[in-house]
Amino acid sequence: MDTYDTALVNGKIVTLDGTREQVLASPLTGQESRKTRHGDAADIAAAVAAARTAFERWSHTDADTRRTTIEALAAKIEERSEDLAAAINAEVGTPEKIAKAVQAGLPVHVLRGFVSDLDSALAEESIAHSSVQYRPIGVIAAITPWNYPLHQAMCKIGAALAAGCTLVLKPSELTPRTNALMMEILAEIVPAGTINVVPGDAETGAQLIDHDGIDAVSFTGSVEGGRAVAQAAAKALKPCGLELGGKSAGILLDDADSEVALKAMVNGGLLNSGQTCNALTRILVPQAMIGDAAAQIGTLAEKMAARLGPVISKDQYDRVQGFIERAQEDDAVTLIAGGTGHPEGQEQGYFVRPTVFVCTDPKAEIVTKEVFGPVLVVLGYADEDEAVALANGTDYGLAAAVWGKDTSRIDAITSQLRAGQIDVNGAPFNPRAPFGGFKQSGSGREMGLHGIREFQRPVSIQRKG
Ligand code: NAD
Repeated sequence: MDTYDTALVNGKIVTLDGTREQVLASPLTGQESRKTRHGDAADIAAAVAAARTAFERWSHTDADTRRTTIEALAAKIEERSEDLAAAINAEVGTPEKIAKAVQAGLPVHVLRGFVSDLDSALAEESIAHSSVQYRPIGVIAAITPWNYPLHQAMCKIGAALAAGCTLVLKPSELTPRTNALMMEILAEIVPAGTINVVPGDAETGAQLIDHDGIDAVSFTGSVEGGRAVAQAAAKALKPCGLELGGKSAGILLDDADSEVALKAMVNGGLLNSGQTCNALTRILVPQAMIGDAAAQIGTLAEKMAARLGPVISKDQYDRVQGFIERAQEDDAVTLIAGGTGHPEGQEQGYFVRPTVFVCTDPKAEIVTKEVFGPVLVVLGYADEDEAVALANGTDYGLAAAVWGKDTSRIDAITSQLRAGQIDVNGAPFNPRAPFGGFKQSGSGREMGLHGIREFQRPVSIQRKG
């Protein structure tokens, strides 16, 4: 079994002081495959000290130095994309082709997005007799989840480097092989101390947030994790950006090309076996079309079965099965495709049957709670007002999509949606556009200029004469 017991501190890969251990099973086979150690207070102290020292230098670097470093990081990730994709395939279960294109490919675009926006982020503004400079906020504690482990880390690392900040990353304990590769790449590319990594669990994360040397916190993960992190940060009045979960809706209008739209929504909703924070897991269709649309969605989902990876762990598998079981017991819910248990021929590992429900109760658990598995729910709407009310009718507000032909109808709907990312007619993801949510989907924005701004503070200088 491979053992992972290292951290990246001050440019060097070092053995963790922490001794707590966790054994992890492969999502593809269910067999124990890796052992990982969790960092402790001494590891955090060393990493934060390195980041504080490096801040004195990095915060004064010019735009060219930052640009060169971020571009070199993007190029190295591109060069190592096969290794990274193989690690993420083995640990998260993302099929190899998608692991390469999305898991390893997207972070490269995100980093290059920061390069494009660097000059705007560092430009001085004039407001009457004041000039406003955007200065780095300081040393950042970054805590990231497992579902897109490299992407989520690079959203924070790239923004920190661009802003002139230094950072200590506590990545997810469920992706130690990916974390080890990431540390190897960072050790080679970024100046010592600017980016430090201490692998560990929630306890390690809590120790990081509490450390006096941390100026700001940036968290991506679940609502429950976000609540705990926000409370810990608030105790020390540390600013805290949160990127949390979602239960996003795709709205099909009656004049849309429904074949294209439903296919795209099913593909997106099931991407990474539904373990995607902005997945469109609620499909809203005109009431008159619901029978046909649900049947089409069911068929599309069944066709995807052979192409989906597993969910990440036994815990996640059991959690998703629980959602499916409870939905099947709910009178307002009808099963269209899938259901509990493993897909045929995939009894090993944590594979879940892609599952589609139709639901008539907008308050049902399957409509309002994030499953984080390959489970879609279809709802009918009587008119556009109801479509908007349904789309906005959860505690989340991360993403939404609208499909149709009439631009003025689409604009009227998008203007009322309370979601941070709204895609029209399957427009592609933009790695420079601000990404984040409303309500319990979080408070921060990542990527591009807005992502860099999260790690800056405006300083106003008033001049006379
Ligand atoms: P999680 O909240 O369990 O863990 C996320 C990270 O936080 C991990 O590194 C974990 O060790 C750490 N952590 C957990 N509790 C902590 C605490 N009390 N103090 C400090 N650190 C703590 O989430 P997860 O299961 O890893 O990820 C899945 C969730 O992440 C889903 O809800 C998904 O929607 C969300 N997510 C959101 C975005 C976004 O950008 N909005 C992106 C990806 C995933």
